[in-house]
Amino acid sequence: MEDKTIRLQLSETKKEKPNSDQLIFGRAFTDHMFVMDYSDPLGWHNASIVPYQPLMIDPSSMIFHYGQSVFEGLKAFRTEDGDVQLFRPEKNLERLNRSSDRLCIPPIDEEFGLKAIKQLVAMDKDWVPDADGTSLYIRPFIISTEPYLGVAPSRNYKFIVILSPVGAYYKEGINPVKIAVENKYVRAVKGGTGEAKTGGNYAASLKAQEDVAKGGFAQVLWLDGVEQKYIEEVGSMNVFFKINGEVVTPKLNGSILAGITRDSVIELLKHWNIPVSERRISMDELYQAHQEGLLEEAFGSGTAAVISPIAQLSWEGKDMVINGGKTGEVSQKVYDTITGIQYGKLEDPFNWIEKVEAKSAVKQ
Ligand SMILES: *Cc1c(COP(=O)(O)O)cnc(C)c1O
Repeated sequence: MEDKTIRLQLSETKKEKPNSDQLIFGRAFTDHMFVMDYSDPLGWHNASIVPYQPLMIDPSSMIFHYGQSVFEGLKAFRTEDGDVQLFRPEKNLERLNRSSDRLCIPPIDEEFGLKAIKQLVAMDKDWVPDADGTSLYIRPFIISTEPYLGVAPSRNYKFIVILSPVGAYYKEGINPVKIAVENKYVRAVKGGTGEAKTGGNYAASLKAQEDVAKGGFAQVLWLDGVEQKYIEEVGSMNVFFKINGEVVTPKLNGSILAGITRDSVIELLKHWNIPVSERRISMDELYQAHQEGLLEEAFGSGTAAVISPIAQLSWEGKDMVINGGKTGEVSQKVYDTITGIQYGKLEDPFNWIEKVEAKSAVKQ
């Protein structure tokens, strides 16, 4: 990394903050944002924290045409003592670079990226809400900005971080949802971009979600893109099943996104000596287990909800109700533990927490 100075331009006005009981995901943004440019041969440069504002981008910028972009999602939590802290943020920066590599985007210095995020959050720390279950959502992303319509990796990029206060995902306790197994569309295939956090994967997933929503389903269960036989993910979350005492999650296979929540769930289960395995699991096997009364719990995992229990799976006209449609014991325990660590209510034996400190920025 070339120039590691972060320039500061403070916002002259302060926006009104939304009430913490009226926060809608991703609608309100804080006073500042972080921006850094990439160009050949300068590399990443021009790191600055500036007032939150629209971008001026040439309409021929490659991002608008070929979708070369990556993003991340993590949260800042306020503890009872008023501290602000992040959950495994270095994992998000690692993954950002892995996604970038797949999309031919140059890597950023992970340590510097984390420093920038912490500095931005510290600057807007009054925006971290304190009501139960609320947090400040952090969205780092990279877009290709070279004004050029040729199909090639862009030679210019912007790395941007924006912040949005978000409400409690579950206002009245965890809410198990109905899921439809998707047999028509696929999310990703091995060798494609399923492992990368890139907007195109989301664009490709909307149609399936829209179709099943008409039938009252919250999301789809994605099957593999080749045989449409093996389970991959649920909506934009990783997925876990408890079958006859063992927790099973699909093994990372080149098309599944490696969730940080997924990794945390696996570590916790191992820590508790609950049998857990990462392996291939087919819909046939899952259905069979359900028929035999062995499918005990099912849940999705991701930053937004942490845990989202599955009440019912519908597959080829068959409805599989799981645990009477209620949140399972292990699902609840995982949820309570991860959120407990995130909000500083529980010990952090795994060193997952990174405090944000309001260090003053270096000016040039
Ligand atoms: C982001 C994401 C997840 C969850 O990842 P976390 O790091 O746990 O938030 C799972 N699947 C997809 C497709 C995702 O984009």
